Amino acid sequence: QAKKAGKKTYRFYSCIKYDGDFDPLTMEMELHKAIKQNELFLHYQPKVNLKTGKMFGAEALLRWNHPKWGMIPPSKFIPIAEESGLIIPIGEWVLRQACAQNKRWQEKGCLPMVISVNLSGRQFSYAGIVSTVEKVLKETGLEPQYLELEITESMTMDIEHTIPTLHDLKKLGVLISIDDFGTGFSSLNYLKQFPVDTLKIDQSFVRELLNNNHDETIVKTIISMAHHLQVKVVAEGIETREQLVFLQQHLCDEGQGHFFSKSVTAEELNGEWARIEQIVPKFGLSQDLHE
Ligand code: C2E
Ligand code: MG
Ligand code: MG
Ligand code: MG
Repeated sequence: QAKKAGKKTYRFYSCIKYDGDFDPLTMEMELHKAIKQNELFLHYQPKVNLKTGKMFGAEALLRWNHPKWGMIPPSKFIPIAEESGLIIPIGEWVLRQACAQNKRWQEKGCLPMVISVNLSGRQFSYAGIVSTVEKVLKETGLEPQYLELEITESMTMDIEHTIPTLHDLKKLGVLISIDDFGTGFSSLNYLKQFPVDTLKIDQSFVRELLNNNHDETIVKTIISMAHHLQVKVVAEGIETREQLVFLQQHLCDEGQGHFFSKSVTAEELNGEWARIEQIVPKFGLSQDLHE
């Protein structure tokens, strides 16, 4: 009996020792229980208007606090949820939580803001995605203009599905954003046919912004292309004031990153409105620098 227990313990430890190399089958089983046992929750990361310096929205980011393993990053468990199909119920749960939370903020008298929700590939290609979004909006009472869906370029490869699905989602009135933009292979020819509202410049380009000429060029090109297509641009992963000022000078519309705020709980987000306004250099100032 003791030996058996010992073996079990060993097996368990072998999961955590290898720094996040969780056994996928075990993780899948644990993930099944995670929703029911309230182990999943959302964090929110502010999105800031770079002209006004004001927060105008937030991205919902999924967190899993496992009773034994502790916090597991989404990069570890989302692929397993995706592979197993669990992403469909989990994704719907995220959508409902995020919409309900945004509605609650509005009812409390907060400034109305847009909540962004990440969709995974399997969720986006799932035939029920449009009706799920419609159902969740109805159930939570959130008006569609306060919900943004983030998809990635790699999810848009199946053009026969992507174009009608995006149009159906737009008909509901929600906003669409292309996340991690620049890391995939979206054809510019298709891009112009996608009814998207925002391109989100991947953080890998923002990271080296002031050390790498190529990244400067890429960022400037994405901003100008987006504006020509009448699409807004968000930069993700802004960590320094220099990166922020560069993006302001090049007329990037919105930003997100640790410079403003890391992802926080729903309660903590309330305090971020005032704090962020204090730390963002006013656009006029950076314009002066430019002249
Ligand atoms: P993403 O959607 O591109 O989200 C941005 C990630 O960058 C988040 O990591 C965020 O915490 C992190 N980040 C934000 N600002 C900074 C910064 O200034 N510096 C650095 N180094 N990192 C920053 P997180 O929360 O670990 O999420 C990772 C990815 O997992 C997300 O990338 C998204 O693809 C996926 N994900 C998260 N939540 C969900 C979800 O609810 N559903 C789905 N399908 N995917 C999700
Ligand atoms: Mg995202
Ligand atoms: Mg991203
Ligand atoms: Mg990313």
